[in-house]
Amino acid sequence: MTYLPGSGWVDRPTTCEPGVAGDVSCDVVVIGGGLGGMAAALRLADLGRDVVLVEADICGWGASARNAGYLTPTLGSDPRILKHFYADRARGLYRFANNAVSFTEELIESHAIECGYRKTGNVAAAPTAAAFRRMAANVKTGKRAVVADARELGIPPAFPGGLHIKVGGILNPGELSLGVREVVRASAVRTYEQSPVLGVADSGGSVTVELADGRIRASHAILTTNAFTNGLDVSPRRLSTPVWVTAVETEPVPPDMLDAAGWTSRTPITTNHFVMQSFRPTNRGTVVFTSRRLQTSRRARADRVPDQRVVDDLVRGFRERFPTLAAIAPARAWGGWIGLTPSNMAVVGQATPRISYSLACNGHGLPQAPYLGTLLADHVAGKGMHDDLSAVWRDSQRFAPGVANPVTLRLGWLADRLTDRLGSVHR
Ligand SMILES: Cc1cc2nc3c(=O)[nH]c(=O)nc-3n(C[C@H](O)[C@H](O)[C@H](O)COP(=O)(O)OP(=O)(O)OC[C@H]3O[C@@H](n4cnc5c(N)ncnc54)[C@H](O)[C@@H]3O)c2cc1C
Repeated sequence: MTYLPGSGWVDRPTTCEPGVAGDVSCDVVVIGGGLGGMAAALRLADLGRDVVLVEADICGWGASARNAGYLTPTLGSDPRILKHFYADRARGLYRFANNAVSFTEELIESHAIECGYRKTGNVAAAPTAAAFRRMAANVKTGKRAVVADARELGIPPAFPGGLHIKVGGILNPGELSLGVREVVRASAVRTYEQSPVLGVADSGGSVTVELADGRIRASHAILTTNAFTNGLDVSPRRLSTPVWVTAVETEPVPPDMLDAAGWTSRTPITTNHFVMQSFRPTNRGTVVFTSRRLQTSRRARADRVPDQRVVDDLVRGFRERFPTLAAIAPARAWGGWIGLTPSNMAVVGQATPRISYSLACNGHGLPQAPYLGTLLADHVAGKGMHDDLSAVWRDSQRFAPGVANPVTLRLGWLADRLTDRLGSVHR
């Protein structure tokens, strides 16, 4: 079992762009080169702006290259919570989430990025028979989503059934993220890597960005630092909590064993637990599973590696749902930081008149981060506020205290295991 410090999907690039040294000036500086920041910088360059992208490590090597690779139109919040607390905004949020998937599909296609994208959709599986009955009674279905039992869905019988959302699919996020990095490197964007930003200040007439070996002066700054945002004083307090998510990949699984496990459709699966679990096949014949036990910290540390107890717990979860694959060994584990907001939804806004941010796409940033980065770039360039941007835009700088902490995450995990146990008793 190998514990990786970076992404398990691709090798870390061996060359990088030079760091900031001395004084640099530009129209707009984008801070943080994940999919969100790279997309924002690309759009600004397309609009003819002189744009600098500054990245602490290597562009695309954060959560963008490490995630589970689900391109889905799902929003973080439970639909019932959305309906209750965000009734006036729910329609706009769903439209935004759907458009984010189309946008990222178009991004892949227009740049011919080879990332193994397959339009499989995704099954949101009910963890217990009772949960499946509730799902079948309450969820609206149609051409884009159907509720069916495990056999009809071609997923293992340890899941009673689920909702097949027939939008989006799965891809290799490392290939996508580093593919976008190559597009950025070939563009007019001036990119600086291995350049952690230490501070950002809006002096009224311009923005100054401080780094160890230099300084950037710009008319406007965009923060796309995701889970690392709390490290910058300018960011609104309590905007998000850094949460570490772990992923495990098995050794290759022979196709006949996947069939015998009941996973005949190979459709990627997520579970409707308090802390979601995900299981997906890869183009290299392995299975990747994630989440289940999340960890939090006051500050995100870039050099973190997965915790063995969490990996063991993930493997237990895999074996419970895929009992016939008990002999398949876990081969590698890695993890990454997401920014979790109390509402479980992305947040975009302005920290000061000249400093905008697009942050914390929670566990849904694969489509949402590049889409919001692009819409925010348009806004900063004076092209107005797109309806999808206003769906997630926050005018207020005040955020409710985060609900994710070691105690709530532990309680969530315990509640999920109780659900699993009750489900297996009644199966
Ligand atoms: C294990 C895992 C599984 C996930 N699964 C999914 C999934 O299946 N589907 C989905 O939609 N989402 C998923 N996510 C979430 C998704 O990966 C993120 O929401 C998305 O990648 C966020 O993109 P980003 O550009 O905002 O952030 P990031 O990719 O994290 O990029 C932020 C960048 O900012 C840089 N940075 C930070 N601080 C500074 C600084 N001070 N100076 C300069 N640069 C800085 C970082 O180095 C980093 O490169 C998952 C995440 C993880 C970790």
